[in-house]
Amino acid sequence: MDRKITHPAKVGTFTVGGASPVSVQTMWDKPIGAVDQHFISQLEELKASGCDIIRFSVPAEGDIELLASVCKLGIMPVVADIHFDYKLALKSIHVGVDKIRINPGNIGAEWKVREVIKAAADTGCAVRIGLNGGSLPHNLRGSTDKAAAMRDLAGDYIDLFQSESFTNIIVSLKDSDAETTYRANKLFSEMFDYPLHLGVTEAGPLIPSVTKSAFILGRLLSEGIGDTLRISITGSILDEVRAGVELLKLLNLRSNGLKLISCPKCGRSSFDTHWFVSSMEPYFRTVHTDLTVAVMGCAVNGPGEASHADIGITGIGREVFIFRKGSIVRKSSIESCTEDFKEEMQKVINEKTDH
Ligand code: SF4
Repeated sequence: MDRKITHPAKVGTFTVGGASPVSVQTMWDKPIGAVDQHFISQLEELKASGCDIIRFSVPAEGDIELLASVCKLGIMPVVADIHFDYKLALKSIHVGVDKIRINPGNIGAEWKVREVIKAAADTGCAVRIGLNGGSLPHNLRGSTDKAAAMRDLAGDYIDLFQSESFTNIIVSLKDSDAETTYRANKLFSEMFDYPLHLGVTEAGPLIPSVTKSAFILGRLLSEGIGDTLRISITGSILDEVRAGVELLKLLNLRSNGLKLISCPKCGRSSFDTHWFVSSMEPYFRTVHTDLTVAVMGCAVNGPGEASHADIGITGIGREVFIFRKGSIVRKSSIESCTEDFKEEMQKVINEKTDH
């Protein structure tokens, strides 16, 4: 697919837009609390799972010091999410966030937004103009074409930013209605070259959110639209990252990592794929080499159906078979198959990474 090349935005050392790969984001789902070892481990787990950028709500003055500590960690670019209070935006910029997300419409007087723009320009901080369909100004709420109204409002804000010669901009146009989100982004992309942060807001719990987000974001990305994304889930933020990464892999927009094919099981099953996949998932997430792994429920169909896989596993009774490109390379047992499979996977990884 041909991606639209947008005006690149610098988010710390990271570039969003231009010809850069589509990045994955999530948003911390609680107050920062404490920047301790537990917090750092969680951030590192998000990063290892494919998260490129992390956003934090900054609802009060007391959050600024913690935000400064997070920025100093340097684990990944940090975004401050600001509503209503331009002073919190200024303070967040001052302590070194790489991007702020504001809805200029709720920051108040125009001069306050201009202050934020000037501060961001001084430090090289990017700004996401984040518009949600649910928080359009009163005069636009009755609009018969909400998607076009969102695009036009974003255009007005862009004019304001450009009048300050500020172009380190990312735009998001989200709505809880999937089709409105699709159209708003499509209409924006036809008119503007700024990078788009894709997402469906208030998308719901895991299954509805991933289904809705994959459908809409997948359509946009397939049309070359979108530079960064968040799949927002009423649930785990690690799942948000995993879902985003999987979507990009599916669209061949991210190649780094393991591609898992596993059968759902059926009446012919002689190997418990559910058990094996859930036992191995933590290990699979640590693999960043491009390889296809197959976990198949029956020894008769499995290796043949997954003959394209770099490595696979199936079994019958207590016997387990590890295969490569459809041919059995090792016999194992239920008791030792997880460790044996890791060993065989490591051999494949070594072959792929040895030059
Ligand atoms: S691979 Fe075997 S167990 Fe899995 S769905 Fe196909 S026939 Fe059923």
